[in-house]
Amino acid sequence: MTLIVQKFGGTSVADTKKILAAARKAVRARQDGNQVVVVVSAMGHNTDHLIELAHEIADEPPAREMDMLLSTGEQVSGALMAMAIHSLGHEAISLTGAQIGIRTDSTHTKARIKSISTDRMRRALDQGRIVIAAGFQGIDEEFNITTLGRGGSDTTAVALAAVLGADVCEIYTDVDGVYTTDPRILPEARHMARISYDEMLELASLGAAVMHNRSIEFAKKFSVPIHVRSSFSDTVGTLIATEPEAPDHPVAGAALVKSEARVTVLGVPDRPGTSYAVFSKIAAQLIPIDMIVQNVGADGRADISFTVDKADLAKTLAAVAEAVQQLGAEGFTHDENVSKVSVVGLGMARQTGVARRMFRALSMAGVNLQMISTSEIKISVLVSGAEAQTALRTVHQAFHLEQAPASAVAFDPRQIARTRDGEDALAIVSRLQQMEDLTIDDIELDETQARLSINGVPDRPGIAAAVFDEISQAGIFVDMIVQSIGREGRANLSFTIPQSHYAQGLKLLDDLAQRMDCGPITSSPKIAKLSVSGIGMRSHAGVAIRTFECLAQAGINVEMINTSEVRVNVGVDGQRGPDALASLQRAFAENQR
Ligand code: ADP
Ligand code: ASP
Ligand code: MG
Repeated sequence: MTLIVQKFGGTSVADTKKILAAARKAVRARQDGNQVVVVVSAMGHNTDHLIELAHEIADEPPAREMDMLLSTGEQVSGALMAMAIHSLGHEAISLTGAQIGIRTDSTHTKARIKSISTDRMRRALDQGRIVIAAGFQGIDEEFNITTLGRGGSDTTAVALAAVLGADVCEIYTDVDGVYTTDPRILPEARHMARISYDEMLELASLGAAVMHNRSIEFAKKFSVPIHVRSSFSDTVGTLIATEPEAPDHPVAGAALVKSEARVTVLGVPDRPGTSYAVFSKIAAQLIPIDMIVQNVGADGRADISFTVDKADLAKTLAAVAEAVQQLGAEGFTHDENVSKVSVVGLGMARQTGVARRMFRALSMAGVNLQMISTSEIKISVLVSGAEAQTALRTVHQAFHLEQAPASAVAFDPRQIARTRDGEDALAIVSRLQQMEDLTIDDIELDETQARLSINGVPDRPGIAAAVFDEISQAGIFVDMIVQSIGREGRANLSFTIPQSHYAQGLKLLDDLAQRMDCGPITSSPKIAKLSVSGIGMRSHAGVAIRTFECLAQAGINVEMINTSEVRVNVGVDGQRGPDALASLQRAFAENQR
């Protein structure tokens, strides 16, 4: 018998009428002959209200008690949902995370799932009941209630679908699918028929809050097809699965994170271990680091820029001040009014000129790029908060995201097929002691690239666009691009190109630097690029730090770095590639699959 997991978000269970409407959807799926598991969020803004109550009492309420409090929201909607299904003449049973046996670690308010027991759910399903699971919660070894982090009911739903071997996980929400960008920010956003796991994973962590990013990690790891659709209609939504909507299209979607803060550590001595020294201090404060960009300066000193959530800025600056003193760096700057705009697409990995198109459009719109970080399938730029919406609209237009690609493959919900059956998934689960463990797929070494850097770039719109216009017209394929703010507000822009184009690229850049009043050019004819790829790369913030740590221990200097949801890329001294590969392989041995 087919098994469907249906998840209803906060707005979809905001009042009893909506709960009854959701119950009807569950009953209909049951009547169609499916076994049905329903995962519920707290009603409406209940979680927000509970948080407000806690903060009326204490600035920093104990995390354990926060979880006791927050988990009640989902228990309320679960019980009401079960009652609603009963009232429609069907059998249902509501269960809390603890009653199901969702075991997590003890990191209160952002716990990770360790294991899920299927026994109780299976028994109820076999008795013909609809199982209602409270989303977003579990218990730790000591039977303390834990929660999975804001938006975590998506993760509960996909995790249950994974362990039960469900045929599909339906996410019912207040939009009728995934759009090319948040339709609340840009009304011209387009409804997508499908999107790949990798693209959704990147978009979710780059600001597209329609799905909790960790739910996509589960979906990818266990091949769970997700159907995101509206609670308020029966229209077909968006399929999240392995394949993208239009494989030949460079960009699938765009996203915005409004409230970031940028920190730049200036003039860091360019020797092994310095990045590690900075980031380990911040990690010790449990602050998640977002965009990391580093590049070497002309004087053998490096500038390291990164972003954190605005709320974490004060603590971050304290940690950075310590690191600066310890390292003998020149100082640090920060900006608390910046936003990150990103484009994501599987297709850009195989096409040239995608970054150039984005930079050109932003330059025409007069938007200044403070930081740039690209990886295989995403390009992120940091812009001032005031320019955020313009920047998002500009890139959305530049890639014609409002129009459906001619090659778009439609989605027919009757043809959803799981590529992996339930037993297989369970076998994987037992292999992974902790279901949300970091999984490294591959560590690659690319020794074909050279690095070019242009220093002292004036802080005004259009420089990156000019550089990549010329590079691209010369037919040179650009791989990694990083730009960060440096000293005196001037930026450093570094990128990698094939070694065969090194001399040509260098000459081009030299001419350009003279015309554009930029500082000196630095370069390496050979740089070794290492890519650590897998699942959980950013949500396990330690990956970048472990990369820095192991390279520091091996005495290998990091020249360039960029991170994404599925990859950490570092550029190191061209002679040290094999050593770097060996030490990374040792460092991540236990996470390799
Ligand atoms: P729920 O309470 O059902 O979990 P959320 O508020 O978490 O709902 O997610 C739905 C919201 O996500 C939408 O209302 C929309 O504004 C926002 N959103 C952000 N990015 C996107 C996107 N790319 N496509 C669709 N919705 C998006
Ligand atoms: N109720 C929780 C929240 O608001 C979990 C969720 O809805 O996914 O974050
Ligand atoms: Mg949500």
